[in-house]
Amino acid sequence: STAVVWFRRDLRVHDQPMFLAAKERATKALALFVLDPTLLEPAGPRRTAFLFRCLRALDDDLGGRLLVVKGDPADVVPRIAQAVGADSVHVAGDFGPYGRQRDEAVEKALGDVEFVRTGSPYLTLPGSITKSDGDPYKVFTPFSREWTKRVADAAPAVTDAGTLSWMDPGEKDGGPRAVRVPDDPAVDAELPAAGEKAARENWEAFVDEHLTDYDDMRNRPDRPGTSRMSMHLKYGTVHPRTLLADARGTGTGAASFRNELCFRDFYAHVLWWYPRSARENFDPKFDRIPLDTGKAAEERFRAWQEGRTGFPAVDAAMRQLQGEAWMHNRMRMTVASFLVKDLHLPWWWGARHFLNLLVDGDLASNQHGWQWSAGSGTDAAPYFRVFNPVTQGERFDPQGDYVRRWVPELAGIEGKKVHQPWKLDQPPTDYPAPMVDHKAERLEALDRFNRL
Ligand code: FAD
Repeated sequence: STAVVWFRRDLRVHDQPMFLAAKERATKALALFVLDPTLLEPAGPRRTAFLFRCLRALDDDLGGRLLVVKGDPADVVPRIAQAVGADSVHVAGDFGPYGRQRDEAVEKALGDVEFVRTGSPYLTLPGSITKSDGDPYKVFTPFSREWTKRVADAAPAVTDAGTLSWMDPGEKDGGPRAVRVPDDPAVDAELPAAGEKAARENWEAFVDEHLTDYDDMRNRPDRPGTSRMSMHLKYGTVHPRTLLADARGTGTGAASFRNELCFRDFYAHVLWWYPRSARENFDPKFDRIPLDTGKAAEERFRAWQEGRTGFPAVDAAMRQLQGEAWMHNRMRMTVASFLVKDLHLPWWWGARHFLNLLVDGDLASNQHGWQWSAGSGTDAAPYFRVFNPVTQGERFDPQGDYVRRWVPELAGIEGKKVHQPWKLDQPPTDYPAPMVDHKAERLEALDRFNRL
């Protein structure tokens, strides 16, 4: 008998529980990826190119046997299952708002062919952790206590490309015409290496060099102290189980790293329970905060996007996003706070810009990261906590290396003076003065909030 193994956000051959489920039912398997326009269009060129590179790497690992087809999955998947005479279609569960809907449609269209969901891209199935009364957790810390118990025994599944006997996709005409992985769209950023091997190498180097000190160094954008595994987790070229297995133990670095993996799960749970929080304030009280819109606001938004706010740490971060398709977490919080509390703009403007440019852009982590910064999310930063963009720079980029790296206009200024170029006797002429008075805008933000 034959199974279809439909890859989605799990572009790897190791630690693949769905392979084991397929092996229980079938002797041969067809490896399938569907290029779904609904997901591809909003992904933008950076994530699309990264995805295509992951697919080519996966195809190599499968001996050139990955079938890549364009179309609506509810149409494509059943046609291919029928063409190869499959009795079952295997996936890892998708828990995002679109993925859930799509999978229900595919399952219905498959009729008698079994649709088998095994696991998910997370350490715990979104929706599966609740308070004792069945209500979802809205606060991270109690969620994380329960999560820690649940993942205590989580271990990678033992699989590789040889776990299943893969069909040559050319053996049968698969209905809709098969396409190879298309050429990459043009990309104006330096993307990280893609695919399972690259993910594993990146992870091993992090474990060797940085995991022990992760807790001390994770807030330093000037140092290579974080794992940069977010894009690999996004496309599932590694599963967080594999990371967790290496980050067991009592060291503070490992404990802090586990906490971040828990955050990733938490936001997927929140999105599962409250799909509307991808678009709307989680806390509806924030619907009444007056925000700036219109022409002047759009001008200010553009200055933020292009990294010419006149605040060096903010500008460095926005240019890192432009140049690397990634931004350090500390700086994501800093620029988000600046957009919402210094410029009084809607958080979803910033969230959309991030999703356009981030190679790790992910609905659950991004929208909830933004809502945390805006104060409107689950156990969000209290609204009155306003990040000072200068202090953030001075604390977390103490020698100014991060700013000098990303803002060439300031490259000649030594040490931490780079964070306040306007205080120099001769400020650089090609770098803007601060676009707002942070002290005044902080009070303005608090005033808008207090009027609620
Ligand atoms: P590490 O510090 O090495 O952390 C390890 C892993 O834990 C990450 O790869 C990530 O999967 C997870 N993680 C870490 N911090 C968080 C967090 N705060 N929330 C959820 N998961 C976390 N992360 C994304 O993956 N995609 C996004 O689109 C995204 N948008 C964000 C937007 C804002 C405004 C903020 C404040 C945070 C956002 N994050 C997002 C979370 C976090 O900034 C990134 O996951 C992290 O910077 C990725 O770098 P890293 O892999 O080196 O992280």
